[in-house]
Amino acid sequence: MPAEESTPAIVLRARDYADSDRIVTLLTLQFGKLSGIAKGAKSSRYRFERKLEPFSHVNLHFRRRPHGQLVFITRAEAADLAQHVLDDDLGKIALGSYMLELTEALTAEEGEAAEAYHILLGAMAALSVGVAQSSLRQAFEMRLMRWAGFGLEFARCRVCANVSLDDGAAVYFVVSRGGIVCARCRDRVPEGAIKVSAKSAAILARLGNLPIEDSPTAAATGPDGALALARFISSILDRRLRSQDFLDSILPLKS
Ligand SMILES: [Zn+2]
Repeated sequence: MPAEESTPAIVLRARDYADSDRIVTLLTLQFGKLSGIAKGAKSSRYRFERKLEPFSHVNLHFRRRPHGQLVFITRAEAADLAQHVLDDDLGKIALGSYMLELTEALTAEEGEAAEAYHILLGAMAALSVGVAQSSLRQAFEMRLMRWAGFGLEFARCRVCANVSLDDGAAVYFVVSRGGIVCARCRDRVPEGAIKVSAKSAAILARLGNLPIEDSPTAAATGPDGALALARFISSILDRRLRSQDFLDSILPLKS
């Protein structure tokens, strides 16, 4: 029998299976994203002290199986891990669900993802102590995408590298370039672009570098910057996130 392994983990998704089992997808600190089956999860309070529900932060114990993708989850306990509660707050649930789904979409099974784990954990902590804020959503999107290799550029022109964008002129976000071009370079770029105010671009550049814990009190970008982010995210995902429409309806943007 394979040896038991263990790692801290965050439950991204869970569903009941058969009479008493659960199938769970988690982002682990040490082994990237894992999917597993917890036999008897609905009846064993000893082995599964923490419910294997989305947002649960657990010490996961599991055994790999020689064949098949699902690991056997043998135990899950809270130990001394920080727990983050979203209460019954609709905004928190909507943003939290979106963060979990975006994380699942941008991570690969067993791909190294320790930094993504820390980004998600920091965002969950910020969400649990405050209220759902667009700035937290945007900071999370910027940070997680950069981790995944999509470092979006909002501080300098992708063509001329001009950084003096604070003259107040609008800039243009080009999805296929993952960043902005300045007004002077716009005519030399054939692709379609989203016009973004200098202020919104500056806010996004700042949110991308802010510690995630500080983002809820920071300014959020306006609808133009949010549209640029949303277009880019949909360009790199192969499906629309189920939680996105709900979140967009709950967390309106202020212009
Ligand atoms: Zn330029």
